[in-house]
Amino acid sequence: MKISYNVDKNGFYGDFGGAFIPEMMHANIEELKSKYLKISSEISFKKEFDDLLEKYVGRPTPLYYAKRLSKKYNTKVYLKREDLCHTGAHKINNTIGQILLAKKLGKTRIIAETGAGQHGVATATVCALMGIKCIIYMGEVDISRQAPNVARMKMLGAEVKPAISGSKTLKDATNEAIRDWINNPVDTHYIIGSVVGPHPYPDMVARFQSVIGNEVKKQLKKVEGNENPNYVIACVGGGSNAAGIFYPYLDNDKVKIICVEAAGKGIKSGESAATSVLGKEGIIHGSKTLLMQTKDGQITEPYSISAGLDYPGVGPMHANLYKTGRGKFISIEDKDAMEWGLILSRMEGIIPAIETSHAFAVLDKMKFKKTDVIVFNCSGRGDKDLDTYIEYFKL
Ligand SMILES: *Cc1c(COP(=O)(O)O)cnc(C)c1O
Repeated sequence: MKISYNVDKNGFYGDFGGAFIPEMMHANIEELKSKYLKISSEISFKKEFDDLLEKYVGRPTPLYYAKRLSKKYNTKVYLKREDLCHTGAHKINNTIGQILLAKKLGKTRIIAETGAGQHGVATATVCALMGIKCIIYMGEVDISRQAPNVARMKMLGAEVKPAISGSKTLKDATNEAIRDWINNPVDTHYIIGSVVGPHPYPDMVARFQSVIGNEVKKQLKKVEGNENPNYVIACVGGGSNAAGIFYPYLDNDKVKIICVEAAGKGIKSGESAATSVLGKEGIIHGSKTLLMQTKDGQITEPYSISAGLDYPGVGPMHANLYKTGRGKFISIEDKDAMEWGLILSRMEGIIPAIETSHAFAVLDKMKFKKTDVIVFNCSGRGDKDLDTYIEYFKL
């Protein structure tokens, strides 16, 4: 039998994944696990999901042929324009899917964790859309670092609750959200923002995000006469935009998969988020995966100039892509990512999110053939990062 890089029936990707959760969370996860596939494959669910993706999010997003970049690098470069989604990134594909699921499960209250605030905004947005109560947990440090996104969440009617333990950042916010869910198992759904957490979250989020890759297939077929590119390339924080664009190509070895991580100030600098290089097998947020940790298993604080890549682990799908060699992993330092933010702005008129900029830096790190078709997931737009760009480039 040919091996598959997709999830197996026990919630594992090779050696990674599963649901390593406290007993008290068992009921919530069981409910989700027993119902998510059935509900999300119902025709009425699919219709509502597709309809909202089209009319509310603005899908399908274009597949754009980047003429000037292609010419400069003597290859064919396409951008999948997730930056054009409502709220400015791919994250809303997942929150739309999960809010519909929560409604079908009869939930009346939504919780979520957020680091930079992007997932918080995407969650607050769909809660407003559905008229459902929304509570966002966010580290106290992040609340002060990410003021515009906190304001957006409040504007959208969400309650932002500070996490004041530990380093007061994303992992502490996640702990608070888990605590809340354990205390409110009946009326509450927890919307996780990436392909991380206990099974079924990684699979569920990957399925909702797979709309990205499925559109690419159709769009490429039209323009290139072939639905398979030579390469698909995406940045990886937790891994959801990457999982979304890789999804239909996972088991298709004609298509090479490239994952781009944040090297921060350099892999050896102690300030990095390059999980594949620096991580060891362990359990984080209920899932067995690769994570950055000390010798005795304490999670180490990651660092990247882009808040969305600043996560100490990767999802189990990506851990497996790394371990099996199906995916090639490249890590890009802050300075190269920032440079690429400027290059993409000036060569194509697209100001990317700093997360997204990391992916494009691969063009300087790998050699491509003239006939190669390369699809980059342009995961988000740079509005949220303007202050960082301004300060960095003294604009
Ligand atoms: C959140 C975010 C990411 C990283 O998250 P993934 O789950 O790895 O996709 C990447 N790009 C943008 C624009 C983001 O907002």
